[in-house]
Amino acid sequence: MKRILVCDDSSFIQKMVKRELESSFEVMIFSDGEEAYRHLKEDPNFDFAIIDGEMPNMDGWELIKKIKGELGLIDLPVVMLTASDGDYFKNQAFDLGAFDYLKKPFKQGELYDYIKVFFKSDGFSTGRVLVVEDSKLQNKTISHQLKEKSILPISAYSGEEALRLLLEGVKVDTILLDINLPGASGFEVAKALKDDSRFSWIPIIGITATKGEEGIETMKKAFESGVDDFLTKPYSMVEFYARIKANIHRGKLVEQLKEEAELDFLTKLYNRRLMFRFLKHHIELSRRNNEELSFLMIDIDKFKVVNDTYGHQTGDEVLKELANIIRANIRKTDIACRFGGEEFSVLLIDTSLKDACGVAEKIREATEKTTIDIEGSQIRITISIGVSSLKEKDDINSLIKRADDALYKAKEAGRNRSFFSDGSISAC
Ligand code: GH3
Ligand code: MG
Ligand code: MG
Ligand code: MG
Repeated sequence: MKRILVCDDSSFIQKMVKRELESSFEVMIFSDGEEAYRHLKEDPNFDFAIIDGEMPNMDGWELIKKIKGELGLIDLPVVMLTASDGDYFKNQAFDLGAFDYLKKPFKQGELYDYIKVFFKSDGFSTGRVLVVEDSKLQNKTISHQLKEKSILPISAYSGEEALRLLLEGVKVDTILLDINLPGASGFEVAKALKDDSRFSWIPIIGITATKGEEGIETMKKAFESGVDDFLTKPYSMVEFYARIKANIHRGKLVEQLKEEAELDFLTKLYNRRLMFRFLKHHIELSRRNNEELSFLMIDIDKFKVVNDTYGHQTGDEVLKELANIIRANIRKTDIACRFGGEEFSVLLIDTSLKDACGVAEKIREATEKTTIDIEGSQIRITISIGVSSLKEKDDINSLIKRADDALYKAKEAGRNRSFFSDGSISAC
């Protein structure tokens, strides 16, 4: 049974809470902050806390400060009760780490419903949210609120840290971005993300506490910087979850569409269209950085025979297996694609023609040595590879053409070999 701590000096509230919650939860009631604090020191294992603001001896704000600070109960969700509706009190509660804010008095059943809803993850699809918020406490609080709905929070305490996490490959469906950050501001972070095609699709929800005219200006500027949605503190949890849910949904949808548009569905390597995009980008980048760039064109030998012998479906499995062999034999920074049919290509970043030949041979030998087990059949294949490297006068087409010419020669010379072309064609 979930344990709920209630701290309120009003005997009316105490009775009401007892009546509403006692049959479903283990409820422990205290009349002042000091008493609750002393108890929590000895017995901190509660699942939820309802704390009144105005109380004798130690008030609710002081108690929350102790709970989140000295007692270190960062994960204990605390809801603050108060009779006043002012933003000041709400903000103060949130700043101290309260999870939500409820206004007294409540209607019959309201508190019960609230807690019931809180404890079940009412249909939230699990998602991953990057929380960019410099205040440790706020970050923890938001993270907790997300976890309550089975959403995984990933914390960043500055825009720079958020970018670093994304560059390291951390996957998220939505970003919650505090606008007031030390270092790069929320505006700058949003702009940087929207300017980067790797991250521009991730929905960003901006958050600020700025109100009035200035608040409207902040929101306008945030949208201009690329933020997709906005929350102004203090916000209700209903609004918070509604926006998070909508944005996670959108993030997942766009990610799926992006994947369908960019990846080959069979092998999950990039498709040909993406290879052309990467070629354009990396040809420019290599020239600017004075780095070498190489290209492999790979074709399965006599693949028609595999299809004719084992069937098209088995042929598909063989294609997947070759994709894995290619993946396993290139660097993380290299880019592999299914160029079409049983042809694959690899863009080798910062790699000379000689080194590219080495990579080609490594992939070719690994393929030759692999026995592919598919439904009782042991299948072995070989591949032929053409290699080219970027020259001064090259464009995308001439770079591909030389690799293609080398591949043709490799086939002609008997297959299962790598050839390179730097104008004239030779074996690797
Ligand atoms: P070579 O050594 O000259 O390359 O011989 P090959 O048989 O591999 O070449 P060819 O171009 O004549 O045939 C390619 C075969 O690849 C024909 C086609 O059925 C098969 N293929 C192309 N795409 C797919 C696919 O998506 N799945 C399967 N199973 N087979 C495919
Ligand atoms: Mg801040
Ligand atoms: Mg072919
Ligand atoms: Mg072939």
